[in-house]
Amino acid sequence: MSIAGNLLKYKKEIESDGVQLVAVSKFQQADAVLEAYNAGHRVFGENLVQELVEKQAQLPQDIQWHLIGHLQTNKVKYIAPFISMIESVDSLKLLAEINKQAAKHNRVIDCLLQIYIADEDTKFGLGFDEAIELLRSEEFAGLKNIRITGLMGIASNNATEKQTVDEFTELKVFFDGIKMSFFRKDDAFKEVSMGMSGDYKLAIEAGSTMVRIGSSIFGKRVIKHYKAQ
Ligand SMILES: *Cc1c(COP(=O)(O)O)cnc(C)c1O
Repeated sequence: MSIAGNLLKYKKEIESDGVQLVAVSKFQQADAVLEAYNAGHRVFGENLVQELVEKQAQLPQDIQWHLIGHLQTNKVKYIAPFISMIESVDSLKLLAEINKQAAKHNRVIDCLLQIYIADEDTKFGLGFDEAIELLRSEEFAGLKNIRITGLMGIASNNATEKQTVDEFTELKVFFDGIKMSFFRKDDAFKEVSMGMSGDYKLAIEAGSTMVRIGSSIFGKRVIKHYKAQ
């Protein structure tokens, strides 16, 4: 099926569950993004700053870009003028830098705390205790140009279905606790971003509000020249 066809199929299925679809366009050409855009989609996810900045300049300005990959503090300045959501916040230092750069543009940038739920060493994210420590810190309380709107997590690669469900459930339970403890009166804190092409159905069953789907919409990732950061 075409990109537009895939997009519409996933959009219909996922949005009918009340879940938001982030179309992950990393390593895809701008033309591919435009095809999905012309089919009516507006929310796209990228994981490299350089690639994101190039695409943002070329593509329609009403696209809502989500950064979903590890972000180095020295690169925040390049995306601060336009980024719609940073899903991959994994330290207070990074959050403080996002706040600083957002302030320069008179913006409040929506952020998710990336929580480490996978059973492997390769994924970034905060541990449960680290996330709580961050939210309790005085420094966090002083950050006025960021808004935490939820949590994000990535399940283990090649896990059994049971393990994947357990990891997603852990994140949802943690979200509920954090909501109660820190954001009870804050309606903006509502997102649990979990689920990708291979596991989005399990994620939605476990309480996901936002899924990030790339290869099932766009096919194989094609651009090779973006250097890893
Ligand atoms: C690449 C990526 C996705 C999308 O993965 P697919 O398996 O292609 O759907 C989702 N989330 C993150 C953080 C990613 O890096």
